[in-house]
Amino acid sequence: MSENVPLNPPARARLRVLSVASEAVPLIKTGGLADVAGALPAALAPHGVAMTTLLPGYPAVLRAVLPAGRAKPKVLHSWDSLLGEPARLLAGTIGGHPLLVVDAPGLFHREGGPYSDVSGQDWADNWRRFAAFSRAAADIATGAVPKLAFDLVHAHDWQAALTPAYIRFAPFERAVPSVMTIHNMAFQGHYGADIFPFLGLPPEAWSVSGVEYHGGVGLLKAGLESAWAVTTVSPTYAREIRTREFGMGLEGLIQSRGDSVHGIVNGIDNTDWNPEADKALAAPYSVRTLPKRRANKRALEQAFGLEPGDGPLFVVVSRLTWQKGMDVLLECIDHLVGIGGRLALLGSGDKAMEAEFHAAAARHPGRVGIRIGYNEALSHQLQGGGDAILVPSRFEPCGLTQLYGLAYGCVPVVNRTGGLADTVIDANLAALNAGVATGVQFNAVHYSALAEAISRTVALHGQPEVWRQIQRAGMKTDFSWGQSGRAYAALYARLVEAQ
Ligand code: ADP
Repeated sequence: MSENVPLNPPARARLRVLSVASEAVPLIKTGGLADVAGALPAALAPHGVAMTTLLPGYPAVLRAVLPAGRAKPKVLHSWDSLLGEPARLLAGTIGGHPLLVVDAPGLFHREGGPYSDVSGQDWADNWRRFAAFSRAAADIATGAVPKLAFDLVHAHDWQAALTPAYIRFAPFERAVPSVMTIHNMAFQGHYGADIFPFLGLPPEAWSVSGVEYHGGVGLLKAGLESAWAVTTVSPTYAREIRTREFGMGLEGLIQSRGDSVHGIVNGIDNTDWNPEADKALAAPYSVRTLPKRRANKRALEQAFGLEPGDGPLFVVVSRLTWQKGMDVLLECIDHLVGIGGRLALLGSGDKAMEAEFHAAAARHPGRVGIRIGYNEALSHQLQGGGDAILVPSRFEPCGLTQLYGLAYGCVPVVNRTGGLADTVIDANLAALNAGVATGVQFNAVHYSALAEAISRTVALHGQPEVWRQIQRAGMKTDFSWGQSGRAYAALYARLVEAQ
């Protein structure tokens, strides 16, 4: 915790925004949400937005707010009962930007992940943990803490989604504009109707335009109904979630929100993800020094127990799930190896898939290497040493690994969906001739489509000049937060002006 945290933004900032997220790098991460929530404050600062991040007080977050030797946290507020739990609001910093932490020991002082225990089992009271977190966010956004003032609140995913609902339904004095961002429609926070009385919402919130969803409580649904504007993380996904195939039951609601639904593609943090200054790499490199990647490839082969060689090395950094198409990748491994490819995979998730990937590695010693687990440094090394990153997702709201691949010259091979469709340009003849191709796209997640894309990638890799051109075009593409930061800032400004 720093004594010098600006609780109120600098005078030049016009908009004060509270960003409510259940994870944010560098403190706590299970997926892309953390990358985005961690990057937003810096992305928005150049556009006149002072963003404060609100996180739950998990042990990892508290350790950052209470460095060793500094026993006394800065307590800004306390709640005798936050949905029945005593809680305090602590102040700190995250990446040099203001951080607020909801310290509720009964809810968040637990070892394990943010949503699950050490064995991976979801906490049974997640609804209560994140309803309390959202309630705290609504209190803060509406002025419960005199030292803090915000013009707008931005809630991320189902864990923060009751924030706009509390603001809408509770008798607060001030109506605060709200933005609800969907990072993945597959996670909605559905619970039984029996939790409703414990949420502290008035009876009128129990309606189809409120929290009620198919006879139960839908947390994300409540946020989508209540927020002033809805965003998701790519223009294509914003269109897709209006359809039955991708809307996961909420397509009608999304359609009903009309043009208050926006698609803003994620940027990447070029301080964390810059091959020229990446400390995780054996040999940092740039678009002008691509041959240096060879040293990273050698290091990767060693780390994954692969035969050394200049042939195509495919990599994967992913949750091992059906969404990510990992079942279809498993089917394609023999083909990949059969045409001269090798595979290095880092991931964790579905236990049966983990076992099948191990079995594939045993079938193809020296050609397929598997690491089960979560390893940030290794994820950088895979991007810095691999030739092509496979992202065969069935749906992908934005996707970050293909963006890191582009920045690192690790050519993305992706299904044409969501953010993957928006960020990768397929190496068809026209794109190759125009020099704009940045990757390989395919059209459906099944064996023949992925196998064909892998074959096409191997063929492209066999033409060094063409391959280098694809790598260079990807590395030169601007995926920084510049444009997207501006888009969020413009949306905030419109909502605040519309009050
Ligand atoms: P999602 O959020 O759906 O998992 P994204 O592509 O948006 O997918 O973001 C995934 C993020 O998590 C990326 O930053 C990726 O590098 C990281 N990641 C995924 N699996 C691992 C892993 N096993 N080890 C390290 N980083 C991982």
